[in-house]
Amino acid sequence: MSSVKKKVIVSACILGEHCRYDGKTKQIREITQALQGYEIIPFCPEAPLFGTPRERINLLHVKGKKRVVTDETKRDVTKVLEEEILSFIKLHPQVDRIVLKSKSPSCGYGTTPILNEKKEVVGTGSGIAATLMKKAYEGIIIEDELRFRTHNPNESD
Ligand code: SF4
Repeated sequence: MSSVKKKVIVSACILGEHCRYDGKTKQIREITQALQGYEIIPFCPEAPLFGTPRERINLLHVKGKKRVVTDETKRDVTKVLEEEILSFIKLHPQVDRIVLKSKSPSCGYGTTPILNEKKEVVGTGSGIAATLMKKAYEGIIIEDELRFRTHNPNESD
């Protein structure tokens, strides 16, 4: 029998890393339990680029395109984030599972609020990392953290 463990990418903040914009974590203990037996690959594209704590970012629809823009200073950080995420994907070309944080402009999978330029919510979609991973890891289902949560199901990002 092969001893090579299956690999799972997991958003680092739900594993217990304090990598959120506010310096906090959103640890879900059930996740580490559920993924026993897997090689867990923590993933957070924002912290290495922007530091922690950092200015919040939002997912915006601008002229029909999805952009990631900082909340106060209005910097478009889409390109740097894409580069960071693509480098991560290149380092981990083969994975078996992906579990991502809900509602995040980077990690959210179908759960992230999409804003217009006046910061009004105009819809819900996937964050930039979830979108790129969906393309890169063909056939791998992206799971949302909420599926593992047995407490505070309404907790926000
Ligand atoms: S949601 Fe994703 S980008 Fe945001 S802190 Fe968690 S791991 Fe990092």
